[in-house]
Amino acid sequence: MSEFEKIKNLLLWYERAGINTFFNVSCPHIDAEKEKEEVNAQPADKARLLEELRQEIGDCKRCRLHKTRTNLVFGEGNPDARLMFVGEAPGEEEDRQGRPFVGLAGQLLTRLIESVGLTREEVYIANVLKCRPPGNRNPLEDEIKACSPFLFRQIEIIQPRIICALGSFAAKLLLGQNIAISKVRGRLLKGINGYNVFPTYHPAYLLRNPRQKKTAVEDFKRIKELLEKG
Ligand code: SF4
Repeated sequence: MSEFEKIKNLLLWYERAGINTFFNVSCPHIDAEKEKEEVNAQPADKARLLEELRQEIGDCKRCRLHKTRTNLVFGEGNPDARLMFVGEAPGEEEDRQGRPFVGLAGQLLTRLIESVGLTREEVYIANVLKCRPPGNRNPLEDEIKACSPFLFRQIEIIQPRIICALGSFAAKLLLGQNIAISKVRGRLLKGINGYNVFPTYHPAYLLRNPRQKKTAVEDFKRIKELLEKG
């Protein structure tokens, strides 16, 4: 593939994901003053700004997933977290409880976090989509386009040092590249908007492929090392 075709494909992928502005967060539901406050949020303000964002999302009907969800899953954790996890979308248990990563995959994520001496309370956990796709199907492009601006605003408020992308949907969105998770996992990469993105396998994938758990443990150790370096 020529360089031109690579760039063209990348720009098309950005457009499909709803990203129209580079090195800035584009969101149709935010005014300039609010955006400035979120980008420059001080630790003490972050919890309030996240709560305001949650209120703004409200009983969201911006995509078809509102029709089938039980609860919207906003995200939870430390508003001033240095490490943020971004998964794909809520599953059945998450939809039932309104909390991210609380099913079997979530329990595995918790164990991986704790395996390197961290706790769930120290980190922040969210998803690309805030409502469960029926039957846990893959997110659709228009759903990602409708919902991802909320995730970008959470990131801008929290300002994590590292964003761990769990699985291919989060990695593709945050890196702005249509690339296989197996090709990018285990490395700290520069993502869109200058984010520091560390992709690794989604815990649900690890449950289906237990032999890869060892690789995931190594990835989590690497994340801890990177956090310790500053
Ligand atoms: S998935 Fe996102 S955009 Fe769609 S209804 Fe839920 S909160 Fe709104």
